[in-house]
Amino acid sequence: MALGQADINRCPPGGDAGVAKLAALLNKPIRSIDPDCGRHEPLQVAVIQEEHCIGCTLCIQACPVDAIIGANKKMHTVLSDWCTGCDLCVAPCPVDCIVMMPVKPLSVWTDQQAQVARKRFEARERRLQREADVAHETPKAATADKQAVIAAALARARSRRVKP
Ligand code: SF4
Ligand code: SF4
Repeated sequence: MALGQADINRCPPGGDAGVAKLAALLNKPIRSIDPDCGRHEPLQVAVIQEEHCIGCTLCIQACPVDAIIGANKKMHTVLSDWCTGCDLCVAPCPVDCIVMMPVKPLSVWTDQQAQVARKRFEARERRLQREADVAHETPKAATADKQAVIAAALARARSRRVKP
């Protein structure tokens, strides 16, 4: 948008209020939301139907603000206070057990919530970068560990073989 390559009316979650802010920021005329991008909906929150969750972790990986907790093969749940309602976790779920529900009582997304979400997004990005750095370093250490384990197992097998 700042480079003039995208219009200011392509974010349905932000609604008319978002367009107005972008228009003021970029000194452009206000426009209605582009229907090709979707419709502005009331604030929603993701809910996991926990009895159907198979613990695949795909929703955790999709959530940009780390608003889902769970572990491999364990039930997952959404921390509704952190959920932005972006619905990015819905499509990856292989058993369709995530639904978007209206926030009750109906409320609007506040600037404070937006700031919190931004901080959580940035914290997640840093965590992912740390994990990528560790994964980059780990193969050498893991290979050395594996070689040591194999060598020890071979040594034990040999010592057993030489006994009468
Ligand atoms: S709707 Fe968005 S913010 Fe909420 S849990 Fe799903 S991916 Fe996370
Ligand atoms: S994607 Fe669906 S099945 Fe997989 S952990 Fe999340 S809620 Fe459970």
